Amino acid sequence: MRIVLASGNAGKLAELRALLADAPFEVVAQRDLGVDDVPETGLTFVENALIKARHAAACTGLPALADDSGLVVDALGGAPGLYSARYAGTPTDDAANNARLLAALAGVPSQDRGARFHAVVVLLRDPADPQPLVAEGSWEGTITIAPRGTNGFGYNPVFLDQELGLTAAEMSPAHKAGRSHRSRALAQLRAGLPAWLARAHASAPRPCPP
Ligand code: IMP
Repeated sequence: MRIVLASGNAGKLAELRALLADAPFEVVAQRDLGVDDVPETGLTFVENALIKARHAAACTGLPALADDSGLVVDALGGAPGLYSARYAGTPTDDAANNARLLAALAGVPSQDRGARFHAVVVLLRDPADPQPLVAEGSWEGTITIAPRGTNGFGYNPVFLDQELGLTAAEMSPAHKAGRSHRSRALAQLRAGLPAWLARAHASAPRPCPP
């Protein structure tokens, strides 16, 4: 079975590919099938993950897996949250997002800089699938005073795992995969995979809605 990965974010795709390396299906990025990003108009991570997965499934005729994720900062009332990718405007600019975040937290003491990454992953067999597999994971940390490290993408350089004393950008991909919100969400997804696969194989293909 081939599954389309409903994301155009190169950093996220690399992590998803590694985390799914031994999954019982072949994964292909939506861009390699000519599918562009869809507007993320939902008000929750789960809605946006479903929107992305449905779009990729509708455009390709393949089952689709999407991840919607973001950084939730306590001192900012949960911002940038759902809007993490476009916090400093569009197109996504990781350095500008990090600069805006650090500016927004200027003067906030370290004990009040709590934050977490959150990821929701969704797997559906077609755009009208009434039983998508939905899983989520979080990663607790704090926001640094200045960026540290160069690995990965997004807010990695400003997100400190306090237990390890390292930012996500100071961890190797394998090290991050042992801790991250995305790997926790995918572990939960995998637990539901046997039942989902049995269902996906048992149901006849259905036409996409207009
Ligand atoms: P979206 O899920 O495509 O809306 O974008 C999620 C955004 O959240 C990314 O563009 C990053 O800015 C941020 N993000 C999500 N996961 C991570 C991560 O593992 N490291 C760093 N930033 C992340």
